[in-house]
Amino acid sequence: MTASLTQLPPMDVAARAERLRGRFEQAGVDALLVTRLPNVTYLTGFTGSAGIVLVGPDALVFVTDGRYAEQAAEQLGAAGVEARIEVRVTQAAQRDVMSDAAGGYRRLGLEAHGVTWAQQRAFAGEWFPDAELVATEHLVEDLRRVKEPAEVARIHAACAIADDALAVVAPRLADRPTERDVALWLELEMRDRGAAGTSFDPIVASGPNGAKPHARPSGRSVEAGEPVVIDFGCIVDGYCSDMTRTLSVGDPGTEARHVYEVVRDAQQLGRDAVSAGADCSRVDKACRDVIDAAGWGDAFVHGTGHGVGLEIHEAPRVAATARDTLASGYVVTVEPGVYLPGVGGVRIEDTVVVTDDGADVLTRFSKDFLL
Ligand code: ZN
Ligand code: ZN
Repeated sequence: MTASLTQLPPMDVAARAERLRGRFEQAGVDALLVTRLPNVTYLTGFTGSAGIVLVGPDALVFVTDGRYAEQAAEQLGAAGVEARIEVRVTQAAQRDVMSDAAGGYRRLGLEAHGVTWAQQRAFAGEWFPDAELVATEHLVEDLRRVKEPAEVARIHAACAIADDALAVVAPRLADRPTERDVALWLELEMRDRGAAGTSFDPIVASGPNGAKPHARPSGRSVEAGEPVVIDFGCIVDGYCSDMTRTLSVGDPGTEARHVYEVVRDAQQLGRDAVSAGADCSRVDKACRDVIDAAGWGDAFVHGTGHGVGLEIHEAPRVAATARDTLASGYVVTVEPGVYLPGVGGVRIEDTVVVTDDGADVLTRFSKDFLL
């Protein structure tokens, strides 16, 4: 483990449910049934694969299955979360617990983006037949936008691990590894430094494969004189990092270097536009104007960025159509790219935290193009 991992500051998980309750009145609910797992984690510290939380006006009821009895007690206890923990093996028994616990609530919120049609029918017909079910949107996700300093510390630690992993792997690109090798090495180096895993499957796209923004690593060898797009990240104590660098072993020629310079300038201006009070659409425009002016506007085929936290993609979006405004504590990526089918691609991405007086870049690996 690196020093930064052993020194992670504690998070105030227990305070989050009260902040959520502060949003109930406006949402028109007495209580919220939280079923999206990242939101369960945020509110309780629980990281298992099955758990739901009923957040009432003054109590939490947490239900999980037999696999997680011990883990739930440990993690909620460690997080200082006071909740009634109920372990029930069958769906029917879990339903009975929640049905009983929600008995006094007239208007019960569900998470519209996390509940399937089948679940909604079961909740309405069997779990909570007497309550009025209210579709809520992003009640917990909106709280998660502003990261506490202890959350930023985790994201920062994940970014630092990714930086260190790439520092080890980048020189080995000269040995003509396959894209799959590079992806595997990055994962190994990150895990070796204490990461719990990758925050998503790494993208390693060399030569013409770089024209596909989300190419999967293949058996193709990384050759000298062609750019390779490497987009990857890891997880530290539940929190993700996200970084892209485009590197070339040897000179890939005038046009590739020109594309790289344009994307680097666009990314720099995008980062400069990140500040508290800035509209996400303005950050996107700052990047897009540079690429438009160079004549590659049509080749920048995705939004400029996204929030990063417990999920690799979370609110806010940083895009031309986004209506969000950045605030201190938001963590977002800035990742413009240019993709030329049959030729290749360039993308540069940093994870950035918005501060009271600007922004801090958490991914620090060099932006030198040539190895
Ligand atoms: Zn990325
Ligand atoms: Zn990203």
